[in-house]
Amino acid sequence: MESKKNIVVVGAGYGGITSVLRLARLFRKHPEYQIHLIDRNPYHTLKTQLHEAAVRKREVSIPINRIIQGRNIIFHLGEVTRIDAKEHIVYMEGGALPFHYLVIALGSQVNFHNIPGLQENSFSLQTLRDAQQIYAHIDKLCARAASEPNEELRRDMLRFVIGGGGLSGIEFAAELADYTVHCTHNCHVNSNEVEIIIVESGDHIVPRMEASFATRIHKKLLEKGVKIITRTKIISRTSDTTTLSSGEVVKTKTVIWTGGTRIHELIGESGMKIGQSGRIVVDEFLQVEGYPFIYAIGDNALAINPYSKQPVPAAAQFALQQGRLVAYNVYADIFRGMRKPYHPKVLGEVVSLGRHLAVGWFALPLLKKITFVGFLGSLLKTAIQEKHIFLLRKESRNWITY
Ligand SMILES: Cc1cc2nc3c(=O)[nH]c(=O)nc-3n(C[C@H](O)[C@H](O)[C@H](O)COP(=O)(O)OP(=O)(O)OC[C@H]3O[C@@H](n4cnc5c(N)ncnc54)[C@H](O)[C@@H]3O)c2cc1C
Repeated sequence: MESKKNIVVVGAGYGGITSVLRLARLFRKHPEYQIHLIDRNPYHTLKTQLHEAAVRKREVSIPINRIIQGRNIIFHLGEVTRIDAKEHIVYMEGGALPFHYLVIALGSQVNFHNIPGLQENSFSLQTLRDAQQIYAHIDKLCARAASEPNEELRRDMLRFVIGGGGLSGIEFAAELADYTVHCTHNCHVNSNEVEIIIVESGDHIVPRMEASFATRIHKKLLEKGVKIITRTKIISRTSDTTTLSSGEVVKTKTVIWTGGTRIHELIGESGMKIGQSGRIVVDEFLQVEGYPFIYAIGDNALAINPYSKQPVPAAAQFALQQGRLVAYNVYADIFRGMRKPYHPKVLGEVVSLGRHLAVGWFALPLLKKITFVGFLGSLLKTAIQEKHIFLLRKESRNWITY
């Protein structure tokens, strides 16, 4: 019997899970092809909501088996350790898988930029585990602060520093500001003693967004009592102190580092061409340069916007679009159809600032856009998150719940 040809997707984040479901649908009448999915976790993480899990323990993971049940997909739980692009083999913990086609969707990881003491003494916010650790830490600190009679020591416990004023940093800061009111009430600590500080190296927070949005977000964060220090870097960290490039030493037990991401080192070692920020260089069809059987999507791919000629930002909405497109392109490659080039659709941006507030904009036809601030924004943000679950249900034909 002739063995099946493997189409392998590595990474079950936004890009990978979308891609694998679409592949299963396109190849459902081609049993000679077997679709495989590999991830280090048995669940799909709703990464855009990690700050909610870190602060108020919101459920942000969905078991992969629940998503793929009934589909022609074999799931492999394990860490991918090496990709041999020339020999067409993916190596993972406890085995190796040869591939006919490969889709790389490993996302990004935290980059501590070799800042002395930072990695050892701070939290990151890239995985569910990170979020769970932050939640447990804050919970414990609040409880300990409640029984600490010394005001100075109490204030040190209730001072939280967020390194990096990008999207994930500010969403976390706003969520924490809302939560501390509730937490301090429950633990009987004075909310005036809580201090949340964002340290951003650039001129303003959310540097990727338009200046007018950054200004709005800045204002809203100040209203929530968050302090923002710009044009300043964290230069070192111990378990109790954080030293800033201004020379200031901030006493704190908590630094959440959101100041940088990097691509997995296995990508660099794979022999594929690497571009800006270590991302894999892909062509207009999202195919890896020099490797016609490999596609890369999401945060780990350096897709270029054909209109602006700029790299497509690392964002969930683009990973989702790319996941669907490469599934189609793999199918077109195999059955000699016309592949489609990637044209990113910028649907808008919504930044949540706590539970009931969001700032952002949505694209309208004819290059127009609508902007919003407030509760309506937070409803829209919830709608975007629910849309992802809805599409997963539609694509997988499974009733997916958290
Ligand atoms: C707190 C936070 C808030 C955010 N908010 C927004 C937002 O509001 N809007 C927005 O558009 N974007 C947001 N982002 C960014 C967005 O989450 C990413 O751009 C998106 O997740 C990228 O999708 P991806 O499929 O490329 O990678 P990911 O979703 O990161 O998925 C990568 C997958 O690969 C797996 N993996 C990684 N390495 C290995 C390995 N070696 N072996 C096996 N498996 C592996 C991981 O377990 C994971 O499942 C936010 C990010 C964070 C952290």
